[in-house]
Amino acid sequence: MMKFNTKTIHGGQEIDAAYGAVIPPIYQTSTFAQSIPGGHKGYGYARSSNPTRHALEKSLASIENGTYGLAFGSGMAAIDAILKLLKPGDEVISTSDLYGGTYRLFTKIFADFGIVFRFVSMADPAQIENYISNATKLIWIETPTNPMMSIIDILAVSKIAKKHQVLLAVDNTFATPYLQQPLDLGADIVMHSATKYLGGHSDLIMGALIVKNKELAEQLYFIQNASGAICGPQDAFLALRGIKTLHVRMQRHCENGRAVAEYLAQHPKIEKVYWPGFKTHPNHHIAKAQMKDFGGMLSFSTKGNNYKEAIRIVENLKVFTLAESLGGVESLVGHPASMTHASIPKEDREKTGIVDSLIRLSVGIEDVDDLIADLKQAIN
Ligand SMILES: *Cc1c(COP(=O)(O)O)cnc(C)c1O
Repeated sequence: MMKFNTKTIHGGQEIDAAYGAVIPPIYQTSTFAQSIPGGHKGYGYARSSNPTRHALEKSLASIENGTYGLAFGSGMAAIDAILKLLKPGDEVISTSDLYGGTYRLFTKIFADFGIVFRFVSMADPAQIENYISNATKLIWIETPTNPMMSIIDILAVSKIAKKHQVLLAVDNTFATPYLQQPLDLGADIVMHSATKYLGGHSDLIMGALIVKNKELAEQLYFIQNASGAICGPQDAFLALRGIKTLHVRMQRHCENGRAVAEYLAQHPKIEKVYWPGFKTHPNHHIAKAQMKDFGGMLSFSTKGNNYKEAIRIVENLKVFTLAESLGGVESLVGHPASMTHASIPKEDREKTGIVDSLIRLSVGIEDVDDLIADLKQAIN
């Protein structure tokens, strides 16, 4: 079997049949000619399938060690498709430390359709069993989590899911398959916001699902085609291009992430650095076991927990751009209390560690000396 660094470039890829193009062309077409009714060369109508998207879907399956990949118009559209596997009355057990958009989709859309959500802290997976009932159909996890960088033991959760015949879906956006491959750890569905590290260049919005089981793939494909939240061929082309360098980008994201985490940890003005690579991180041993390295995402808080000072730091950064999102080649900074988590009441947000001075970094692949110098001038 191909190794990961080869799969990102060649996994599931074929030379284009028409002219031998090495890179899958952008098939910017809505439909395909039929010689007789129903007689086409594998592609009928582009919502159902498109050669550029298909090439991407095969690449996605390959890099996640799955069998089937599905590409959507956004990460949220991919999650939406998973939830459409369920019926009113079905229950979902979800990690409580969750991407805000996922929480909104669960509680503001699918709860109204009669799906019941139970939010559980999964730092200790044994907790999950207390919430399983006959109606439980899906366990939803995210690891590392945003922005607190908590780690959930995927293998331990998958054992619980299998014991109770419940599907396990893992949002693998932060880690990417370079760092962890949830299907190999027993997950049924891997989900990505391909907008982030897979695309890698902050130039597209896309979602992905990868599974091993044929029946599950067919159900999800039926939903994808019926609901129609596919990605276009131009975006599929960009994502394929991004995936080809995933391994080299991730290697540098990890190196730079480590250097920045270590710099911040020794800085006298810094209170706490949240990064799973530190031995002091509560689930460091799990991160070490299930991840190849620790990634480029980290958060930190400053001493005195001053809201204004945190704002001053993010505004003074010059190489780090103040923006939502993550996972691109360029470094980004966010202030969860005033940006992504502003709608959560202060008391609730502080309970989960999102204090006023918390700052989140998506460490890019610039020269690390410039990143550290930028942090130094902004903090001092
Ligand atoms: C961004 C993100 C999503 C949503 O994906 P979109 O592509 O923005 O729709 C879901 N989960 C995580 C962890 C994310 O970071």
